[in-house]
Amino acid sequence: MVERVVLLGGGPAGITAAKLLRRKRPDWEVTMIRPERASMIYCAIPYVIEGLFGQEKVCKSDALVTDTGARLVIDEATRVDFTSREIHTGRNGLFPFDRLLIATGARPVLPPIQGLDGARNVFPVKTEEDLSAILGAMTERSRQAVVVGAGNIGIEMAQAFARRGLKTTLIEMAPHILPALVDADMASPLEDRLRALGVDVRTGVGLCAVEQDGERVVKGLLLSNGDRLGLNEGGRDDLIVVSAGVRPNVELFEGTRLHIGRTGIVVDSAMATNITGVWAAGDCCEYRSFIDGEIAGGKLATNAVPMAKVAARNMVGEEWHYQGFLNGAATVVEKLRVGGTGFTEELCLRKGIDVVVGHGETTSRFPMMPEATKVRVKLIFRDDDGRLLGGQAFGGEAVAERIDLLTLAIKSSATIEDLMNFDYSSQPWQTFFPAANAIVMAAEEAWARKADRSRAERCPE
Ligand SMILES: Cc1cc2nc3c(=O)[nH]c(=O)nc-3n(C[C@H](O)[C@H](O)[C@H](O)COP(=O)(O)OP(=O)(O)OC[C@H]3O[C@@H](n4cnc5c(N)ncnc54)[C@H](O)[C@@H]3O)c2cc1C
Repeated sequence: MVERVVLLGGGPAGITAAKLLRRKRPDWEVTMIRPERASMIYCAIPYVIEGLFGQEKVCKSDALVTDTGARLVIDEATRVDFTSREIHTGRNGLFPFDRLLIATGARPVLPPIQGLDGARNVFPVKTEEDLSAILGAMTERSRQAVVVGAGNIGIEMAQAFARRGLKTTLIEMAPHILPALVDADMASPLEDRLRALGVDVRTGVGLCAVEQDGERVVKGLLLSNGDRLGLNEGGRDDLIVVSAGVRPNVELFEGTRLHIGRTGIVVDSAMATNITGVWAAGDCCEYRSFIDGEIAGGKLATNAVPMAKVAARNMVGEEWHYQGFLNGAATVVEKLRVGGTGFTEELCLRKGIDVVVGHGETTSRFPMMPEATKVRVKLIFRDDDGRLLGGQAFGGEAVAERIDLLTLAIKSSATIEDLMNFDYSSQPWQTFFPAANAIVMAAEEAWARKADRSRAERCPE
C-alpha cells in the first residue's frame, strides 16, 4: 500500500526529509505543506540588509522539493487530528497521513516590554516579510539602528546596519557578546572589531522600557543602566531589530496528545514523538546536549538538517539515532571570524563542572606567508577524565573548519592527550606552521596546567 507522508514545514528540516524520503521510498506519496511563498535561506538575510545581494538570492527554489517528486502545497496547517490522522489547512484542505514529520521551526520572540510588540519601527528577523519590512524601513531619513541581542544574528545585523552607514547600537544583557557561543576572553576581539566598525556595543545592559508616540513609533529606549537611546527625532526613520531568542512553532498542537516540553516538541533519539507514526525535527523540537543530555538552548540549521536525516531514515524503517546538540557555530565581523562548540568555560562554571583550560596562539598560515593572520584557540577539558567539553577559536581564516574538527573531537570523546597527539597536515598557504598547531598548543597548555595542579595537590606547600 502507498504510504501517505506529510511534511509540515518547508525549512531545512522539511526539505532535507523530502529529499531523503523520496530517494529511499520513491513509491511513497510525500506532501510538504508550508505557508510561505518561498523557503528562505535565513542565514544570509543580514547580507541582503548589508546590500551584498538582492532579496531574491535568499529565496530557495521550489524545485528543491518538487524535483524529488514530492508534492508542494502552499498553505498553513490550522489543526492536526492525531486520532483521524488528518491535517486541516487554512484553505480548507484536508491531508490524511500515515506518517507525519513536524518541522514547523521557531519564530523570534520579543521581550515582554510594553510598547515593543506592534510598534511600527520594531522588527524581528526571520521571514521574507520581516526582511521586506526592514528593507522598507530603511529610507534616506534613517540615521540610527538599534539591535537588541548580541548572538550571531544580532552581531551580523549590527554589522549590516553599520555598513549601510547607520549609527548602530548593539545591546546585550549578558556581560559580553555571543554569550552562548564563547567566553568573555574570546568574545572581546570581536567586540573591538565591531566598535572599530562604528557599532556602539553595550554589554551587561538590558532593555527596560520603550517610549512610543501616538503613532506606534518607538521614540526612545530605556536601558537597565539608566541610559536612554533617543530615536526618530526630527522626522527620522530609525529602526530597532530584536534578535533576543526564538520560540518553537507548536501552538498548533495545543490541546492535542503531542508531548510538548519547555523548549519544543519532545522527541526521543530517533526523533519520534510520543505519537506513533509522528516524528519531529529542527527548531520546533526540544534539543538535548550531546555532552550531558540536559535540555540545551540554541536553534541552528546545522542541527535541523541532521535531525531531519535521522527522522527520515527512521520513518522508512531504518534505525538511526540523533546523538545530541553541540552548538557548533561561527560568525564573522570584518574578516575576524569567531566560533565555538560544546560547553563554554562559563557554562561549565554554572553547571559546577571542574575544568582545565588551555590556549594556543599561532598564525593561520606559515608566519612569513602573505595575509597570515593571528589565530587563537581555547580548549575546555573536564578536569577529572581530561575529556574535551568545548572549543573556541578566533582568527582571520579557517575558524569554522577548526570548530567542526573540535565538534568531532567532542563527539569522539577525545581527551587532552588525544589532542596533544593528533595528526595534522601542514602547508605554508593553508595551515598552521608544523610546530605551532594551535589546537595541539592549547591541549599542551591544558595538560601542563593539569600536571601543575596535581603536583600542587600532592605536595601542598
Ligand atoms: C537571520 C537568521 C540567521 C541565521 N543564521 C544561521 C547560521 O548562520 N547558521 C545556522 O546553522 N543557522 C542559522 N539560523 C537558524 C536557522 O535558520 C534555523 O535553525 C533553521 O531554519 C531551522 O530549520 P527548521 O526547518 O527547523 O525550521 P524553519 O526554517 O523555521 O522552517 C519551519 C517551516 O515550518 C513552517 N510552518 C510553521 N508553522 C506552520 C504551519 N502551521 N503549517 C505549515 N507550515 C508551518 C514555516 O513556515 C517554515 O516553512 C539563522 C536564522 C535566522 C533567522
